[in-house]
Amino acid sequence: MSSPSVYIKTYGCQMNKLDSALVTSALRAAGFGLTDNAKEADVVLINTCSVRDHAEQRVLSHLGHLKHLKKTRPGLMVGVIGCMAQRLGEKLFQHEAVDLVCGPAQIPQISQLLADALHEKQKRLAITEKIRQKEPENQNLALEQFESAYGIEDRQLPGQAYVRVMHGCNRFCSYCVVPYVRGPEVCRPPAAIIEQIRKLADAGVKQVTLLGQTVNSYKYTAGEKTYCLADLLATASNIAGIEWLKFVTSYPAEEFLDEILQAMADSPKVCHYLHMPAQSGSDKILRAMSRHYTAAQYLELLDKARAIVPDIAVAGDFIVGFPGETEEDFQATIDLTRKAKYKNCFIFKYSPRPGTRADKKLQDNIPAEVKKRRNIELLAVQERISDELSRDFLGRQVKVLVEGLSKKAHLNLDQSSSERQLVGRTAEDWIVVFNGPISLAGQLAKVKITKTSPLTLFGQLC
Ligand code: SF4
Repeated sequence: MSSPSVYIKTYGCQMNKLDSALVTSALRAAGFGLTDNAKEADVVLINTCSVRDHAEQRVLSHLGHLKHLKKTRPGLMVGVIGCMAQRLGEKLFQHEAVDLVCGPAQIPQISQLLADALHEKQKRLAITEKIRQKEPENQNLALEQFESAYGIEDRQLPGQAYVRVMHGCNRFCSYCVVPYVRGPEVCRPPAAIIEQIRKLADAGVKQVTLLGQTVNSYKYTAGEKTYCLADLLATASNIAGIEWLKFVTSYPAEEFLDEILQAMADSPKVCHYLHMPAQSGSDKILRAMSRHYTAAQYLELLDKARAIVPDIAVAGDFIVGFPGETEEDFQATIDLTRKAKYKNCFIFKYSPRPGTRADKKLQDNIPAEVKKRRNIELLAVQERISDELSRDFLGRQVKVLVEGLSKKAHLNLDQSSSERQLVGRTAEDWIVVFNGPISLAGQLAKVKITKTSPLTLFGQLC
């Protein structure tokens, strides 16, 4: 019998995309086939996200569809991995469509769990019972081995890779489910991270993005020395073949920020890009969110960043419609957005997440239409800022790391060119669309910007 083929569907953030790449590699190494076509798969694995209700609803509707599909394909196996698996555990296990539930800490066991489920035709549930308990050493070791052994050949984008520097989160922002599904913060040893980046560079990777829920609080003590993110950036900058280093997501805090910004200023390889969510511009709402800074302190951090790295591009996140958010609070968010001059912002409407303090203690009292209106209003404010910033690029030459074919080809059709439209990103994370040969995917290229829009720059290959 040929080896079972697995289709993986990923919802959510870069952490999840990285987990899916690791799972893909592990399954391949264990003899499974991987397919991009869900219709021909023997196993459908859904890597899930719990951060917003909307993301969970999409997974549940996907499972509903799979339940019907299983009526015509009784042999089809369905697994749920990731944050929702940990959050809903037993409940998902009872779902008619589901054969396997595997939490984030159990993914090193994924090949074995799947093989057992297929062989014994029995459902499997593997999650962490007490997620906030310190993980046993052997569990950390298994995660570490899994992390560093796999993933090189399963990168999503040519020439790029993500490397996790830490698991979990200890911040407990009142609205966030991450500390309850990803567990306590555990930082990976610097030697293992650097070794992984070295291997990636040997395999042709040019850009590495270091990942952590609060990546700037990375801290690892070995003997006398405590390593921070700046140490990782400085050491990784010396690796031949690595051209660009990025890191996401930063929490607005003083700790280590000077060192990190200095590493950015000192090394031409550390990209001038900072993703640092403010979440709100109102001090009252920030307190209710258990974010430990004020709007003024947040803006001071940005001033500091711009003093050390003058051309730094900053991206932000906001939640609108948090419980108790008045028009005045929302206005404070608009003011902060204007002052922060973000390159771009990710804006979300608040949805209560079960188990979080905001869900237990605060009433979700902002009507849906108000959330929607604030979302649209804030997006419009940000669009004007992005538009203004993007115009600065007109006529300039930028270096981009080419990702592949553009999905926005219709936006700037160049009939005179016989070449396809490609998309890439600058070191400051601006999206650039231009015509060129697909062989450039994964390579650095120079592009002259001839047209701009709030989120995309258009240009010609130099
Ligand atoms: S810092 Fe806050 S928002 Fe970010 S993952 Fe941790 S708890 Fe969630």
